[in-house]
This record gives sequence, structure tokens and C-alpha cells, in this order.
Amino acid sequence: MTTFISESRPRARTAHFCDACRGRIAPGETYSKAAMKSDYFYTWVMCLSCIPVLAKAWAANYGDLSDSSLDYDDCHEWAQDNPEDADAAAYLDRQGIS
Ligand SMILES: [Zn+2]
Repeated sequence: MTTFISESRPRARTAHFCDACRGRIAPGETYSKAAMKSDYFYTWVMCLSCIPVLAKAWAANYGDLSDSSLDYDDCHEWAQDNPEDADAAAYLDRQGIS
């Protein structure tokens, strides 16, 4: 079971990579940083543009429902299955897929 613990919205001091789209989060960019726990504690880093993608993929029952978790593959699969959605189209654009 994956549990959400907390989220912050820091400004990147160094480059990061988004866990949802694998895009680069540039220094100076504000991003989402969530503390999570499954069998261990970990940090989920995400660009702000991916927040609606993650929410929509979760609402559409993508991801591992038994584990309450969602990963890159789930976001990517949802976006590819819903190319008419503006957030999905933007997500695919960030990856150079259109
Ligand atoms: Zn992203």
C-alpha cells in the first residue's frame, strides 16, 4: 500500500527529472515534491504540468489500484489512450510524441 504523506512546491535549485513524464525540471522552475511511503519512504518529483495528467490517470483507474500507486508507465499509457484530452496532448508533446 502506497501512502501519500505530504507535498511541497519548491523552486528547483538544480535540475530534476519529472517522475511522471521524465521531462527536465530546470533550475528556477517550481515543481511538486511529494513524500510517499510504501515498503520504504521515497520522494515523487513532478513538473506542475503533470499534476492534471496524474489526477486524470488515477480517476480513470490507471495504475496499481491494489497498491494505490501510479507511475510513469501509467501516466504515459493514459495519455496515449486519451490523445483528445488537452492535458494528455501537452504531456505527449513534452515527450516529443504527437
Ligand atoms: Zn512532467
